[in-house]
Amino acid sequence: MPMSQAFKDRLYPVLTDIVSHFGTPFHIYDETGIRETARQLIETFSALEGFREYFAVKALPNPRILEIMSEMGFGFDCSSIAELVLSRRIGASGEDLMFTSNNTSREEFQAAADDGGCILNLDDISLVPKVPRMPELICFRYNPGPQRSGNSIIGNPVESKYGVAHQQIIEAYLEARRRGARRFGIHTMLASNELDYRYMVQTTKMLLDLIKWIRKEIDIVFEFVNIGGGLGIPYKPNEPAFDLRAMGIEITKLMKEFSRQEGYCPRLYMESGRYMTGPHGVLVVRAINRKEIYRTHIGVDACMSALMRPAIYGAYHHIEVLGKDPQKGLETVDVVGSLCENNDKFAIQRPLPPIEDGDVLCIHDTGAHGHAMGFNYNGKLRPQELLLRHDGRVELIRRAETLDDYFATLNFDPDVLDLRS
Ligand SMILES: *Cc1c(COP(=O)(O)O)cnc(C)c1O
Repeated sequence: MPMSQAFKDRLYPVLTDIVSHFGTPFHIYDETGIRETARQLIETFSALEGFREYFAVKALPNPRILEIMSEMGFGFDCSSIAELVLSRRIGASGEDLMFTSNNTSREEFQAAADDGGCILNLDDISLVPKVPRMPELICFRYNPGPQRSGNSIIGNPVESKYGVAHQQIIEAYLEARRRGARRFGIHTMLASNELDYRYMVQTTKMLLDLIKWIRKEIDIVFEFVNIGGGLGIPYKPNEPAFDLRAMGIEITKLMKEFSRQEGYCPRLYMESGRYMTGPHGVLVVRAINRKEIYRTHIGVDACMSALMRPAIYGAYHHIEVLGKDPQKGLETVDVVGSLCENNDKFAIQRPLPPIEDGDVLCIHDTGAHGHAMGFNYNGKLRPQELLLRHDGRVELIRRAETLDDYFATLNFDPDVLDLRS
């Protein structure tokens, strides 16, 4: 079920006041819910020493959210310079940071090495000689190729641009060792929004089998295995929740078994984004136009710059109309933004209570890959972000973009390279 009853109970009674103070549109995140999910994840792997979540920063790159994750003991998975800098700004350093870039540039290697470094997670064997100073601890992202099927968002591993191919993985570690690496980890990321917990169990088994083989071949032991993110959340009502408990039990069993056979146990790392914050955010918008042509279109005051998933992936986001009871009758509508793109729709042919101008709509599950994905195409600005705090107060954690922000990179005074001699 999208958006928990507990979040609704915290938000809905105060939402009218929040709307009148801050104005729409905004994303609002639920600190209590985020902390509860974080505790559940920690509990899931409490039998494994050294388990750590590296929150995938790209899901919700806001310093206030990262502070909460840091307080829960989590590190950060970063894949750009901005994400590294953001994580460092809230105090993360060294092995709190995993840098999982791909098609890595010289500038990115430099940023990774700056300020006390981070765990470098290399995406390709060709990058090994390009690392300016090989760190002591190195990790590779593994792509199993035809051995695994992948899933619908992330795609088939054979077609994926990510990771070191199976036939290169031994050579990759050998080369890193030749260049000075002494400590090793391994990483993979094969799923996205996967609701079947067994996929993560299989991924763990795959990595454990792989590191057994690598040890036999070149005598490397691994400090950690990072099974990536990709845990799914139910966006649709009646979709089953991801079975965290069952995943914990089965992965713990695999790790203990490995430990008995191999005489050592790597730490388990994970880098979930969506699962940690996705259900704990909603996009709150106001209906501003009702248009009846061949279909009924409900125009709202946000557009895909605030939430791209429906337009990009055809993703379903549940919608509720504040103060309107769905039991009292529904009409089928498209809920649309104002961008000049016909896929700028939050919902297509969705049964909703009759909506009039001024009604407030809650678009569920926007806490991950929501605001973060937004763009400025068509000059559309991104909305503010709020945090419904533990103590019941509401904090503005990002203001809305302004036209000045949009114009900030434009040159109104000519800046010209003159090559005429
Ligand atoms: C996007 C990403 C994640 C997080 O994915 P979720 O589906 O949000 O859990 C983790 N690791 C890497 C390398 C990623 O690119």
